[in-house]
Amino acid sequence: LIFLGIESSCDDTAAAIVCGDGRILASVVAGQTELHSDFGGVVPEIAARAHAERLDVVVEQALSQAGVTLDDLTGVAVTAGPGLIGGVMAGVMMAKGIAAGRSLPLVGVNHLAGHALTPRLTDGVDFPYLMLLVSGGHCQFLRVNGPQDFTRLGGTIDDAPGEAFDKLAKLLALPQPGGPSVEAEAMRGDPDRFDLPRPLLDRPGCDMSFSGLKTAALRLRDQLIAQQGGLHQQDRADLCAAFQTAVAEVLAEKSRRALAASPVPLLAVAGGVAANGQIRAALQQVAAGAGARFLAPPLRLCTDNGAMIAWAGIERFRLGHRDGMDLAARPRWPLDGRAAPMLGSGK
Ligand code: ATP
Ligand code: FE
Repeated sequence: LIFLGIESSCDDTAAAIVCGDGRILASVVAGQTELHSDFGGVVPEIAARAHAERLDVVVEQALSQAGVTLDDLTGVAVTAGPGLIGGVMAGVMMAKGIAAGRSLPLVGVNHLAGHALTPRLTDGVDFPYLMLLVSGGHCQFLRVNGPQDFTRLGGTIDDAPGEAFDKLAKLLALPQPGGPSVEAEAMRGDPDRFDLPRPLLDRPGCDMSFSGLKTAALRLRDQLIAQQGGLHQQDRADLCAAFQTAVAEVLAEKSRRALAASPVPLLAVAGGVAANGQIRAALQQVAAGAGARFLAPPLRLCTDNGAMIAWAGIERFRLGHRDGMDLAARPRWPLDGRAAPMLGSGK
């Protein structure tokens, strides 16, 4: 079993070749950060055009790196949503072209299912497990019950944490993406100098909020500027440390509640924010406290990539799922049919 996986729902054009046993023969990711850097966020039209221009190159690279041809493929999996519609459409059209041209099965994949099933690709874990997805565009707890069976336990009601890190970096004139630069500053900072809120912690359940944290940081920054005429190096570091600690505490406490509400043997994390050392350590501690294993797949498989899409396609294919040439690109596609669509999914 060999699948091609195609991903183009945000600002990464990605393709990968993955085998049924979880071997990743190739995984190519072409980012677009430089195309959007002047605009302070991903510009959907620019992203769509870049995906359309690069998809065939990226697919070609994945095939040649894997040492296979289209004739060796069992099927084609593609992100069919949720995401920026122009990019998703470009990927879906590419996948349809290959599937139709070679008479291969086509499998549409939910991008979030791709992230959520990654621990099975990397570590072959069994169902059920808890997945905390924390990226620039998403933040939610999913109980993963099966390849197509997810229960959403809660999520952000406004910004995703990655987005909040990026906005904080912007406020403090630190380089983008904000996560790594805030983390680097935080290393030299005192997390106790500034008092930042812990939004929604006083409320039961697993919903989270991060926009208030960013607003509070903005207010503190402006106070400092008003008092001192500017920001000192140490102010930046202390604000970053306070911010990162607040995010880590909220994610940890909500993870503890999610594990208590829905006990499972494994807590897994995916998304770019999972790179953060303090957040990882906090989640690891929560898992240990609940007697669960903690798993963070390698970062290149935690952020957007084609391998997770190929794998989620393989899992669906094994359940007998096939899509036709009428497969639609969906800007919104909640994983959990029982849950309302996520609010403010960000960029
Ligand atoms: P998605 O569509 O999956 O949301 P994305 O491109 O927004 O995709 P990712 O690529 O998974 O998200 O992650 C990028 C985000 O992760 C950025 O917001 C970035 O600031 C954040 N991030 C990266 N490294 C760190 C870190 N060390 N600490 C905190 N946040 C980080
Ligand atoms: Fe993603």
